[in-house]
Amino acid sequence: LLLRGSMLARMGGDEFTVVIPEVSKPEDAETVARHILRAFSRPFEVNGREQFVSASIGLCFYPEDAKTPSDLLRCADVAVYRAKAAGKGLFRRYNASMNRATERQLRIQNELHRAIEREELSLDYQAQFSMEDRALTGAEALLRWNSAALGPTGPSEFIPVAETSGLVIPVGKWALDRVCRQIADWERSGRVPITVAVNVSAIQFAERDFLECIWSVLQKHQIDPYRLVLELTESSIMRDYEESAAKIGILRQIGVSVAIDDFGTGYSSLSSLERLHPDSLKIDKSFIQRIAPSEPRPAIVKAIIGLAHSLGMRVVAEGIETDYQLKTLREFGCHAGQGYLLSAPLAGEAFQELLSA
Ligand code: C2E
Ligand code: CA
Ligand code: CA
Repeated sequence: LLLRGSMLARMGGDEFTVVIPEVSKPEDAETVARHILRAFSRPFEVNGREQFVSASIGLCFYPEDAKTPSDLLRCADVAVYRAKAAGKGLFRRYNASMNRATERQLRIQNELHRAIEREELSLDYQAQFSMEDRALTGAEALLRWNSAALGPTGPSEFIPVAETSGLVIPVGKWALDRVCRQIADWERSGRVPITVAVNVSAIQFAERDFLECIWSVLQKHQIDPYRLVLELTESSIMRDYEESAAKIGILRQIGVSVAIDDFGTGYSSLSSLERLHPDSLKIDKSFIQRIAPSEPRPAIVKAIIGLAHSLGMRVVAEGIETDYQLKTLREFGCHAGQGYLLSAPLAGEAFQELLSA
């Protein structure tokens, strides 16, 4: 398979490097990459069970791309990062223009690796209020990362990097554990929001042991499963609809709720929605932000709320910033709301004060 004199080395974790000493043309290296990827397209048999492993490859060349071993490795890293971002089982050839965009992403990836052990991650909680009487009913946990090396970095920036690098699995588990621990603390103090939601990435939800993970964290912290809400996006459910439907069904049996996040931006069909029957829909903030006296009547928002009512689901609006938006949503019969107008995301202790108020 490999050319003569080639070397294979494990760099740590699941990273390997292949050094091919002499290639007459770049296409030869690409042929080797294709061979390796093809070998991974079939399952491996481990203890009589079939295991699937995928691979991504980044290619770079001496001396065109870099002249020192460490620079070559860095170029390969940039290229493999691109390959992963494009999907599974692909290779990408390094080029200098890849550098700039991924430099920051690579730094994020490297730093995020150690963020958990360095205790740089935390959760903020944003309150959700009943539209009817403005009572605090729930909270959404939002990940925060105060990186020593990069400064405060928002989840919109680091979650996508965590997703392509697989780091979203340990990060997501960490968030789930913290949320449940916080619920247990609040339950003990006697002041607890009715529900606490946590965002779940598509990759996390697709994991084979996702349900075991939920089950064990509930057991560990001994919390009432009815308090926990998992926020999933339409696209993460639609990835493998049958599998998702089965998982959501089991979650319901356990008592854990599912909310569809950013609703309206994806493409879930009405029949799939009816069958999945999530507990609630969260209207994406882009729709809420367009509710203004100067804008046409917000037909989509009205329709989503109507849909939730007729399917017997709760509907939550997020990103409420103005009184006009609040008033309109209340008129439409939206059940609950969340947004800067009502309360910004707060650190655990500050949220505790809000609970006691
Ligand atoms: P999201 O789930 O849609 O979260 C709502 C975002 O809207 C949060 O941004 C929140 O701070 C922000 N927000 C709240 N009120 C308002 C408002 O009135 N106006 C506007 N313009 N924005 C408002 P944040 O905290 O930056 O989170 C961004 C995204 O990162 C989240 O979007 C979610 O998709 C993801 N994320 C956050 N925490 C986690 C997590 O623990 N796990 C995963 N997988 N993703 C997370
Ligand atoms: Ca959310
Ligand atoms: Ca959202």
